[in-house]
Amino acid sequence: MYNFFVESSDKKDNRYFISGDDYNHIKNVLRMSVGDTFLVSCDGASDLCRLAAIESDTIVAEIIEENYQNTNLPISIHLFQGLPKSDKLELIIQKTVELGVASITPVAMKRSIVKLDDKKKKTKRERWQAIAAAAAKQSKRSVIPELCEVLSYKQFIEKAKDLDLLLVPYECADKMAATVDALSQIKIGMNIGIIIGPEGGFDETEINLAKEAGGKIISLGERILRTETAAITATAMCMLYSEIKL
Ligand code: SAM
Repeated sequence: MYNFFVESSDKKDNRYFISGDDYNHIKNVLRMSVGDTFLVSCDGASDLCRLAAIESDTIVAEIIEENYQNTNLPISIHLFQGLPKSDKLELIIQKTVELGVASITPVAMKRSIVKLDDKKKKTKRERWQAIAAAAAKQSKRSVIPELCEVLSYKQFIEKAKDLDLLLVPYECADKMAATVDALSQIKIGMNIGIIIGPEGGFDETEINLAKEAGGKIISLGERILRTETAAITATAMCMLYSEIKL
């Protein structure tokens, strides 16, 4: 079933007013007509709606069933991704959005090869946010995860203080016992952070800062995973540990 994202300002009483690209998509691409049904996602919930009217520049959608579908995880996973090379971040965004991530923040780390100037950061962020929106639509998410601005590692450590749990998958960590122990601390409603190093991994000082910030150093197994594999794996582990709590 098609799913369209709107702002709360597009809602009045039990109706949504859809305009812009989605108006064109519904009217001219999907050629929907009055009575057709689809999902409208607003503020984290997805309502089942029927097409009530097609006006000159607005689709009027009438809510049939509120909160018809809620595919959000019972926790908020905030992925902090060491800025990787080339289009790896696009793959990381697509896959972790499918897995339920709440936000993704690129972090310029010591061993990040890519250096982005402010202009590049802006254009890249717009592209990354569009990838997150497309992945959210495809995976029937009720919200579009936020693509945050690129942070320095120092800024990331500051942000980490607001988290309930910070997981630090570290390539030099061993033994899965600490991983299971950390994941077992996941509780419904928590804000969970995951920090993943870039291709070059963590610098010693970065790991020490993460530990001082209360980060749990965890292993993702005996093998060295690519940064994109590690991001997807760690997010999937959190998704599993949170959904079994439901
Ligand atoms: N350059 C590092 C090396 O050769 O040891 C590898 C870094 S790895 C490509 C990128 C990131 O993925 C790491 O910084 C870590 O966050 C994560 N990662 C990869 N394999 C891991 C593992 N077995 N356990 C925990 N984290 C891992």
